[in-house]
Amino acid sequence: MTKEKPSNGHAYPKPKETSLNRTFLEAWHKEGKLLVQSCKNCNHVFFYPRPFCPKCFSIDIRWLPTNGHGKVLSFTLIHRPNHPAFFAEVPIVLAEIALDEGASLLSRVVGENRTQIRPNSTLTLVSGDMKKNYPLPTFKLVCQSYS
Ligand SMILES: [Zn+2]
Repeated sequence: MTKEKPSNGHAYPKPKETSLNRTFLEAWHKEGKLLVQSCKNCNHVFFYPRPFCPKCFSIDIRWLPTNGHGKVLSFTLIHRPNHPAFFAEVPIVLAEIALDEGASLLSRVVGENRTQIRPNSTLTLVSGDMKKNYPLPTFKLVCQSYS
């Protein structure tokens, strides 16, 4: 079923779909959009998908489309991935990203210049057909921060 195949032929591992993350996963797969959640009671914006607001515990929440832009809070380079789908793509860059909307998430950063990543680097979601390559929202560097 999976279409996500890196260059070495192994499919990327897929996230387990649940009733909580189904809307998020479908938005990425079908529309290439990254959704977060927003609380209608206190306006807190958060990620990962949850059935209630982690700030005020209200269950009155909604899905919020993001603009796909954010900044790097922290990152790591993975030289020994634990799945063969990633072996040909090392180093794998994994970043904690603060989205423009206020939520943060862990995500992969791809692209030839990915190892130039630094704290505060500006990121954007991969675009166009590249989105279909990845089972989860994936980012690329926009420009380098010199702060
Ligand atoms: Zn709330």
